[in-house]
Amino acid sequence: MKWDVSFETKCQGMDLSIQDQYHAISFPIYQTATFSRHYLGEESGFDYTRQSNPTRSQLESVAACLENGREGIAFASGMAAVTAVMDLFGPGSHIIVDSDLYGGSVRLFNDVCQRYGIEFSTCDCSSEDVESYIKDNTRAVYLETPTNPMMHITDIAALAELTKSRNILLIVDNTFLSPYFQNPLDLGADIVIHSGTKYIGGHHDSIGGFVILNDTDIADKLRLILTTTGAALSPFDSWLMLRGIRTLAVRMERAESNAKKIAEYLLHSPHVTKVLYPGLPDHPGYEIMRKQTRGAGAMISFEVESRDFAVKVLNNVELFYFAESLGGTETLITYPVTQTHAAVPAELREKNGINDRLLRLSVGIEGADDLIKEIDRVFEI
Ligand SMILES: *Cc1c(COP(=O)(O)O)cnc(C)c1O
Repeated sequence: MKWDVSFETKCQGMDLSIQDQYHAISFPIYQTATFSRHYLGEESGFDYTRQSNPTRSQLESVAACLENGREGIAFASGMAAVTAVMDLFGPGSHIIVDSDLYGGSVRLFNDVCQRYGIEFSTCDCSSEDVESYIKDNTRAVYLETPTNPMMHITDIAALAELTKSRNILLIVDNTFLSPYFQNPLDLGADIVIHSGTKYIGGHHDSIGGFVILNDTDIADKLRLILTTTGAALSPFDSWLMLRGIRTLAVRMERAESNAKKIAEYLLHSPHVTKVLYPGLPDHPGYEIMRKQTRGAGAMISFEVESRDFAVKVLNNVELFYFAESLGGTETLITYPVTQTHAAVPAELREKNGINDRLLRLSVGIEGADDLIKEIDRVFEI
């Protein structure tokens, strides 16, 4: 893959070391479980699709390039990617996790990883002193920035300096901004995770996940985990992700431009009591955001005047879909308290500010005026 080109051009890239014999522009879907040999000892590079597959390898190469990483691994879902990363750690390991994370990750840590003897501490990495949580057995710090759904911003480079000096891995779930807006490896993170289901796939039609990193030893361990546990992305979903990546840059650009207009609009609405969008200058993470990203993304959380008002909005949207997930071309509105963050213990949810007046928008690429008209309409019903 070519590295010295713009992000937009990387999105059109193909790893020519993994080429099909007819040189198709759209990389073929190798819909096969296994690969034959002509004679004992022949190596084609591919044996069995759980282990590796040309369509998936092509995708992994492109995805790694987008994050400026040496190694990319594609998983059957974002959660499979997070799980594989957690499988790097054994019993007795201690991991510091951000207090505001995707609900599924919280459930994985609390309900699954803890049973395997991994110990977790919860810390607000955007505002607390992470160092004070480090113990002798601390192996990693795990975070999202912006966080989901409260949009806290953590200074990745500053934290990376700390984790490097203490020989701890820094793991960043970069789903919310996509590699278009933020590249944590460039800022010193060790491992980047994506739910490819979101912006990378981009069309709400496929589930997938990625781990991207520079360390070849850790990548080999992850590939062994993937092969052994069977968490690999299918050939067809790999192709959908490759196709999604072709338009990643233009989708992100448009979605962010829409989001900025909507955030401004919400800020001036009398029904809205709080707008959480890191692209607004009064957001506490605004300056760090500007330093470490190329944009603020297209996720907005906002609080309305009452629970009844929130319910009214959810029950009456027509142009938006009332649905979980994010990062597709269509605008989705989510109710974190009963949807994405239902798995977060109620106490932590409350502490984090995820209340029954909080709504979350994943802004799509529709016409901005239509989106604003839609908000105006549901607010005034
Ligand atoms: C959706 C999501 C995940 C989980 O990904 P799946 O593809 O749904 O398994 C992890 N982290 C974040 C930030 C997400 O939004």
